[in-house]
Amino acid sequence: MSNTKSFWGESAAHIWLDGKIVPWDQATIHVTQGHMFAHSIFEGIRAYWNQDQEKLYVFQLDAHLERLYRSIKIMRMESDFTLDELRAGSIALCQKSTYREDIYVFPTVYFQSHVQLNKMIGPTHTYIQTFPHASKLDRPDGTTASVSSWTRITDNMLPARVKCWANYRNSAMAWTDTTLSGFDEAIMLNTHGKVCEAPGACLGMVTDGVLITPSVTSDILVSVTRNTILQIARDVLGMPVVEREIDRTELYTADEIFLCGTGAEVTPVSSIDHYTIGEGGIGAVTQQLRQAYNDLIRGIDTRYPEWRTEVG
Ligand code: PMP
Repeated sequence: MSNTKSFWGESAAHIWLDGKIVPWDQATIHVTQGHMFAHSIFEGIRAYWNQDQEKLYVFQLDAHLERLYRSIKIMRMESDFTLDELRAGSIALCQKSTYREDIYVFPTVYFQSHVQLNKMIGPTHTYIQTFPHASKLDRPDGTTASVSSWTRITDNMLPARVKCWANYRNSAMAWTDTTLSGFDEAIMLNTHGKVCEAPGACLGMVTDGVLITPSVTSDILVSVTRNTILQIARDVLGMPVVEREIDRTELYTADEIFLCGTGAEVTPVSSIDHYTIGEGGIGAVTQQLRQAYNDLIRGIDTRYPEWRTEVG
C-alpha cells in the first residue's frame, strides 16, 4: 500500500503498533477504548535528512522518550515496553519507511480499555507513526503574536509537564483566539500572571545580551528544544542564560523574542500585541541560534553526537 492520508497529512505506509510494524490500515483502535477520552499521551520527535551525508538523524530521541516515560508515570499508565524497545521501534519504523526527507516520529500511548474516571490506572497500547514534515528554519520573516486572555493550565490542575492530548484543549483556546484576531501565535500567562509559553512552544527572550526563559516550574512543558537551545546559548554562543519569571511588559521592550519547540524549531517573534520587538526582523542572537540549531539537528556540526540517532 502506498502512503495514506491521516490526521497529520501523508502518513507512512507502516505504523509501529505494540511491538510490531504493521500496514497503516491494520493499525485500528476499537471505539470503546481509552483513546476516545483524550487521556492519551504522546511525543512529537523530528528526524532530519542530511543530503550531503545521505543520512537521516532522529533528534533528541532519548530525551523525548524519557519525557514520554515521565508522562506515563504521572498518568499512572502501565506500559509493556521499555525505553530501549521504543527507541528500537522508532528506528526500525524509520528504516522501513526509507525516508530521504525531514520527518516526524510520533509515539502515542493510550489506555487499553475503558478506564473509569475514579480509577484511571492500567495497561496501555502504544503506537508510533511517521510522516514527512519539512523544516521551517529558513523562513525569512518573523511571526506576530498576542498575549492570550486564556490562562495556561497549572500543575495541580492539569499538569503542562505531562504531554497529554487533553492539555491541548487549553492550547487550542488560546491559539484559535489569537488566529481569529489576526496574529500568528499566542503567548500564554500562567495563573500567577507571569509569561509561561506559547500553546505549542516555549519562549526565549534576549535582553541586554542575556537569554532569559521562564523556569520549568512556570507551568511549561519541559521542552526538549528549550533545553537544547539553553545549552547551545551557553556553550556555543557563550551567552549568559537565566531561568526566571518574566513579566508581560518585559516582552514589549525585549531586544529579541523567539519561540522554540520541536515543531517551532527556533521561530523569531517580530511583534507582540502590536509592539515591535527589537528591529522587528530576526534578531542577531535568534539568527545565530537558528543557524547553530540547524547545523546540529542535521549533523553538519558533529558536536553533541548523543543528540542525534542515525537511522542506518
Ligand atoms: N510547550 C508546548 C505546550 C508544546 O506543545 C511543545 C511542543 N512539544 C513545546 C512546549 C516544546 O517542547 P519540545 O521542545 O519538547 O518539542
